Amino acid sequence: MQVVTSIEELRSIIKWWRGEGHSIGLVPTMGYLHEGHKSLIVKAVSENDRVVVSDFVNPTQFGANEDLSSYPRDMERDAAVCEEAGADVVFHPEPEEMYFEDNCTFVDMDGLTKGLCGKSRPTHFRGVCTVVSKLFHIVTPDRAYFGQKDAQQLAVIRRMVRDLNFGISIVGCPIVREEDGLAMSSRNTYLSPKERKAALILHKSLSAAEEMAKAGERDAGKLISAIVKSIKTEPLARIDYVELVDAETLEPVGSIKAPILAAIAVYIGKTRLIDNFSFSPEA
Ligand code: AMP
Repeated sequence: MQVVTSIEELRSIIKWWRGEGHSIGLVPTMGYLHEGHKSLIVKAVSENDRVVVSDFVNPTQFGANEDLSSYPRDMERDAAVCEEAGADVVFHPEPEEMYFEDNCTFVDMDGLTKGLCGKSRPTHFRGVCTVVSKLFHIVTPDRAYFGQKDAQQLAVIRRMVRDLNFGISIVGCPIVREEDGLAMSSRNTYLSPKERKAALILHKSLSAAEEMAKAGERDAGKLISAIVKSIKTEPLARIDYVELVDAETLEPVGSIKAPILAAIAVYIGKTRLIDNFSFSPEA
């Protein structure tokens, strides 16, 4: 496995692979890899001849007061995880390699990016769409792998690929959790032991609501209230949002008639965590 830092070098590897007739999978990440990331890489390896993992803390998707400078980084460990999962290349560029100093071109999206995380992170998805577009142009993958953990991001990327005719298959992968249910996230490292325990409220509140939906509850308001009530039992938790939205349009729904996404963002101390579940009334 190779760690590549330059776009030019990566392009020449891709060209060579294409000459050999290889299919290519891409797994975009911001590094500090855990089992959730690894599950995406393993799936990509099983479905493609060659796999590129990008490992880049993308500055354009962070707001001015967010955690860009403190975001955890450990390239050596990341490379070991990628190698073990069977990746062929880790693409680890410096920000200067990815963005010209006077970069003024961005990929922006209306609609889907305005609600949920877009409300409190208004420039986030512009950064995500821009960097993912750039990676798609550099790697030209057949398939790209994204986690359901970031459900809004997955819906946004699917829509961008459709709207801009990227011709790349987007593969969604299930949320990988710690044994006690907490969704794995690089940001979990910010949590103190007390906060780590408190963070369980995200999965606990969502699981209870999912059971209600499975038992036949179709009223979105009732499910939201149940989630809010449960989160409020945890003193260290502060709700950013709790929403039930259509799984494709991400528009809020009043009742469950089609596949939905129940998504939450909750501050545990200073750390903002997200989690969700998908539910289909026919299932
Ligand atoms: P990140 O490095 O946090 O930007 O995540 C890179 C990719 O890994 C995204 O597609 C995430 O949705 C995915 N991912 C992160 N955490 C998990 C998880 N716990 N389970 C599944 N996928 C995940």
